[in-house]
Amino acid sequence: MTLPDPLQDTLRKLRRPLSYLAGLDPRRADAVFDLEKTIATIVGPDPDPALGRFLELVGGLDLLRGDLRRERVSRLLAVLDAAESDCRPEELEAAAGRSRALSELDTEVQWVKGVGPRVAEKLARLGIHTVLELLYHLPARYEDHRDLKLIPEIESGEHATIAGEVKVCGVSGRGRGRRYSMLVSDGRGVVSLVWFNYKGDYLEKKFAKGAWVVATGVARRFEGGLEMPHPEVEVVESEGDPGSLAALAPVYPATEGLGNRQLRRIIQNAVACNQGKIPEILPEQLRKDRALPGAGEALAQLHSPPAEADAAAYNAFRSAAHHRVIYEECFLLQLGLALRRKGEVEEPAAPVNPEGRLVADFRAALPFSLTASQEKVAAEILGDMAKPRAMHRLLQGDVGAGKTVVAALAMLAAVEAGSQAAIMAPTEVLAEQHFRNISRMLRGLDVNVGLLTGNVRGPERERLLASVTAGKTHLLIGTHALIQEEVRFKRLGLAVIDEQHRFGVLQRAKLKAKAPQGLTPHLLVMTATPIPRTLAMTVYGDLAVSVIRELPPGRTPVVTRVYAEEERPTLYREVRAEVVRGRQVFIVCPLVEESDRLELRDATTLAESLRQHELRGLKVGLVHGRLKSDEKDAVMKAFASGEIGALIATTVIEVGIDVANASTMVVEHADRFGLSQLHQLRGRVGRGTHASRCCLVAGEKRTEDSWKRLRAMEKTTDGFLIAEEDLALRGPGEFFGTKQWGLPELKVANILRDAEILMEAREDAFNLVMNDPMLRKPEHRLLAAALARKFGRRLRLGGVG
Ligand code: ADP
Ligand code: MG
Repeated sequence: MTLPDPLQDTLRKLRRPLSYLAGLDPRRADAVFDLEKTIATIVGPDPDPALGRFLELVGGLDLLRGDLRRERVSRLLAVLDAAESDCRPEELEAAAGRSRALSELDTEVQWVKGVGPRVAEKLARLGIHTVLELLYHLPARYEDHRDLKLIPEIESGEHATIAGEVKVCGVSGRGRGRRYSMLVSDGRGVVSLVWFNYKGDYLEKKFAKGAWVVATGVARRFEGGLEMPHPEVEVVESEGDPGSLAALAPVYPATEGLGNRQLRRIIQNAVACNQGKIPEILPEQLRKDRALPGAGEALAQLHSPPAEADAAAYNAFRSAAHHRVIYEECFLLQLGLALRRKGEVEEPAAPVNPEGRLVADFRAALPFSLTASQEKVAAEILGDMAKPRAMHRLLQGDVGAGKTVVAALAMLAAVEAGSQAAIMAPTEVLAEQHFRNISRMLRGLDVNVGLLTGNVRGPERERLLASVTAGKTHLLIGTHALIQEEVRFKRLGLAVIDEQHRFGVLQRAKLKAKAPQGLTPHLLVMTATPIPRTLAMTVYGDLAVSVIRELPPGRTPVVTRVYAEEERPTLYREVRAEVVRGRQVFIVCPLVEESDRLELRDATTLAESLRQHELRGLKVGLVHGRLKSDEKDAVMKAFASGEIGALIATTVIEVGIDVANASTMVVEHADRFGLSQLHQLRGRVGRGTHASRCCLVAGEKRTEDSWKRLRAMEKTTDGFLIAEEDLALRGPGEFFGTKQWGLPELKVANILRDAEILMEAREDAFNLVMNDPMLRKPEHRLLAAALARKFGRRLRLGGVG
């Protein structure tokens, strides 16, 4: 936990001018020297990355007046406090014994008995480098070996545990045929325990005639007798002694060359030597309130369940010990999010008036009234923005729910407050669509809207950028181009990110950083990928969430049907009829070009064959990810204008495009898509007044399961239900990589199974941060250390790097 010395030194130096300024009379503070430059000199040309957050706050400091400046300085000092408490040795001393234990178990796993360099290498493959990590390598499941079997009752191929007396034992054969065998009797029958290709003499040393043993392994009938090859055997004291093998036996996630037995032995050793040293990071009060066992106790029980342990509970991860470690993992994650959130809500932002004239005029000019759901989220958003603290909100809403209008409302509120607003979309087509729609909605209002994409070049781009810098462009719509260096806003007050899941946290941070004058823009991120609540609490755990629950009235629901391969001719006859009638059709394919590995219909071949046969004489377009972006745009535009009747596409069209005349969505090889993805695709139709259909073609090699899965799409159009289903089927990692969000991965906890624990942990974590924002209290020291270890520098200096 000790920061490198130069950084400590820098932190000390930074404190001087800041405390000086903080101590000054407010009237004089205004006149004080060029603080930004002083700070720049102290940190030097190549500042430590840990200072990122601090430096972000320094930006614009000298421009701030009076109160704001003083406030900023006190926040900078708080950030320094936080950083230094991370490395203040005397505070670490306070947590003395336990804190030392933490570092003791941080030693290389090689120090554990039974682990040499070779084994250590294999452990590293499992992500285990330290003793502590080894102790936290938990069983994936348990096998119940507690019931002793009578030897005559054992069936061939069965895993069994027996107890008996060694009648005969010894080595026979030579070379590769050398074996050790041992005949064990339990008074009712005999079994022969054998070790083939046996080398050395370790078994002779361990066993002797007349000893009592317990053995466990898979038995088989052999030449009329029963034998158990390579069992686990333990010598016990006497006839009634169950020993340690007749137990609920942990089965670990193993790796090549490092089997379960060896892992178990190594981990048992580690537990035996270190149980007392396992750091307890959870505060005692919390453990009492939630009735959680201590860390040492929990880990010991997970690695060797007590004799009376309930096998079902252990295998369902529902034992008290499991509860403890799952809670701990959830708690640390939520604590990190709580801190991140806290850092963000403290950022000063320009407040807006939720009932201004511009907003009212806009509402009056809309050709429809907002749905109750839209009203509710608009109130939540404007309520946030009315505060002088930056908003961090996620707006979720199914495809077509009408998020754009709500975003426009928020942007106007910002414009009315004298700020600028920006909306960033993942593709050019989408940005242009937003530009068209929003410009239309704003017709008649005194608001300047600009569009910035890669397509805007030359003098036009220059003019636009100058206008943005001068503050004349009120509302800027664009793609990634928005976060380029050259884009400088005069006063960015609201940043909206559409289809958030297409961007990473970094891009979000970059857009936010576009606000000058030491203000942070309000942040609104939008997504049409409905996310189950529990998942939202992890990936978006630092954002407040608004959900649009209903679709605008008057939509004709999309009828979904699954087609078998044999029904394709019928399907395409219907498609043809639809296009002839003047409607438009999307045909989606998972692949671009033929692949030798998969027998899939690819977009290029499909387009060719449709042009020649089923859709002959009609205008057929093709768009896929390998096209250059202007080629792609040209095709999409031709489709949007109705010039193309049928568009064959890979999933590039998945996101946001709005063509009211499109009435049919065909998905080829639908079984290769996730349900949420299919739902997104389906959302591309049914956006106008025409009756719309979604046709899912199940691939030739469909399984019973995939068929059932697709059938689920016929039954519901509720994106949230579908997302829950998807999450259950594919697991959170697949569904939505947490890594992309800069969050640590969950190892034991499973957000579906453990939703309840996750919510408890979240509540506790947010409470704790409210009471001890810097985790400065002695009872939270180890927690802070564990957190830093888990999030690494992502949490340094109170914010996210
Ligand atoms: P999404 O949430 O998928 O981004 P959009 O914002 O693109 O949805 O809205 C889809 C369509 O619904 C747009 O054409 C929009 O004008 C229309 N719309 C939005 N809100 C309403 C409403 N309250 N009543 C009627 N139509 C609406
Ligand atoms: Mg949209």
